[in-house]
Amino acid sequence: MRFVDEAKIQVRAGKGGHGCLSFRREKFVPRGGPDGGNGGDGGSVYLRADSRLLSLYDFRLKRLYEARNGQPGQGSQCDGKKGEDLVLGLPVGTLVFAEGPEGERLLADLSEPDSLVLAARGGRGGWGNQHFATPTRQVPNFAKAGLPGQEREVVLELKLLADVGLVGFPNVGKSTLLSVVSKARPKIADYHFTTLFPNLGVVYVDEGVSFVMADIPGIIEGAAEGAGLGHDFLRHVDRCRLLIHIVDVSGREGRDPVEDFETINEELRQYSPELASRPMLVAGNKCDMATEEQIAAFREYVEGEGYRFFPISAATRQGTEELVQAIAAELAKLPPIVRYEPEPITEEERLK
Ligand code: GDP
Ligand code: MG
Repeated sequence: MRFVDEAKIQVRAGKGGHGCLSFRREKFVPRGGPDGGNGGDGGSVYLRADSRLLSLYDFRLKRLYEARNGQPGQGSQCDGKKGEDLVLGLPVGTLVFAEGPEGERLLADLSEPDSLVLAARGGRGGWGNQHFATPTRQVPNFAKAGLPGQEREVVLELKLLADVGLVGFPNVGKSTLLSVVSKARPKIADYHFTTLFPNLGVVYVDEGVSFVMADIPGIIEGAAEGAGLGHDFLRHVDRCRLLIHIVDVSGREGRDPVEDFETINEELRQYSPELASRPMLVAGNKCDMATEEQIAAFREYVEGEGYRFFPISAATRQGTEELVQAIAAELAKLPPIVRYEPEPITEEERLK
């Protein structure tokens, strides 16, 4: 299954049921009073953050989401049943945009688990004729029609909520690191692009101290131009407070660690200069397979560039505890994860 982090869907609320036009019929009562019940309100469409979900994949397969219509009112003062609401589960961290009069507008940032947002309001049910009876108008021979439900196009964009994002070429050991420092069990394999899905793991540091680490689809060259999986990846680090740049110092696959490091940083810069200047720690992985000289040379280069360097081996866990402690100390100094503020509703929209 492919990791999908953007989708456009149509949400349609239910119509209100029509009010009923009816008069009481009883034996020996020639002209009974009005007894038409009200129509039920149409169901609304809600969006809810669900922490079990990690992708917007399902929304690529199905585009239209409808709540149920309200039932019409009936005679004998029976009101129609309200149409059932539709609640769509979305991954935590999904931004919801609605098409508005001035283009796209942020409707909600579903960054709290179980947070709920109304996407389309159900139509009001119509009054039955019974409602219109007054002492001076005893025979109202009209009822109101139900109103249509709101319908609109909604754009969903997933920006995962993680304190720390792991960046680096495929196969450098990002998934392995996440698996040894957290309880997450990502796929680890010796070929590229095994990470088609983001993996989130909670890293417990100390009593009451923990952080969320994300291992996301691997970045590749040309990512900033949207090649391969790079684009997904870049959007996901958007909210991360700290980046951990992982490099394979052993150069096992014939790669040059310095070149890799610069390539990834260039991708980040092209995507967003702000992202490129995000606080970053550098972890030199696979030290168990690297020579002392390789490690020393890479350390010298990294520190010369002004970054803190951590030699580790995710496979043997050497140095990983020091890295976790350094991450926690760094995060304590940084502002919390960005939450986006929805834009206020315009008067025009309110009237809809
Ligand atoms: P990712 O693509 O960055 O997520 O890389 P993976 O975590 O899937 O690791 C790719 C390969 O490198 C796997 O075969 C791992 O077992 C191996 N690997 C990861 N960390 C280390 C390490 O510290 N030392 C050694 N020798 N191999 C490692
Ligand atoms: Mg991986």
